[in-house]
Amino acid sequence: MDCLFCRKLEAINELPPDEVVWQFTHSIAYLAPFQSYLGYCILASRKHATELSQLDDETRLYFLDEMCTLARAIEECFRPKKLNYEMLGNQTPHMHWHIIPRYPDDADAMHAIWYTIERLKDDKPARQRLKKGPQSNAETVAALRQALKSLAERE
Ligand SMILES: [Zn+2]
Repeated sequence: MDCLFCRKLEAINELPPDEVVWQFTHSIAYLAPFQSYLGYCILASRKHATELSQLDDETRLYFLDEMCTLARAIEECFRPKKLNYEMLGNQTPHMHWHIIPRYPDDADAMHAIWYTIERLKDDKPARQRLKKGPQSNAETVAALRQALKSLAERE
């Protein structure tokens, strides 16, 4: 079986340092590619499963708890207006959450981000603007790690 998130997990130590935000016990937080939504992360389960219902109760609770911890770190770092949580898996059926901060200047605020990404798919400069955050990915990852470290110490 060829699964993107299983492959990433196997090669976790070879991934670029700006891609892996945090290694939780049951999941891995990655920086997502569209950083105009500053702090957008993908949280992938360590275990290959396609649905939450496939996890035993304890693993599912930990996985959801890790999602909330990551969301809290994003909130503390970047103060978004709203967070969007999405678990789709239609393209990559290995459980992963998209945790997407939304900001007041978002022109497509009433839509899920996929609408914007699809709408701009043939507009290369606009797509580049979607991908590039207002700060470097290294700065974003460093801020998130700092927040996650301090959240872990508070527990
Ligand atoms: Zn997988």
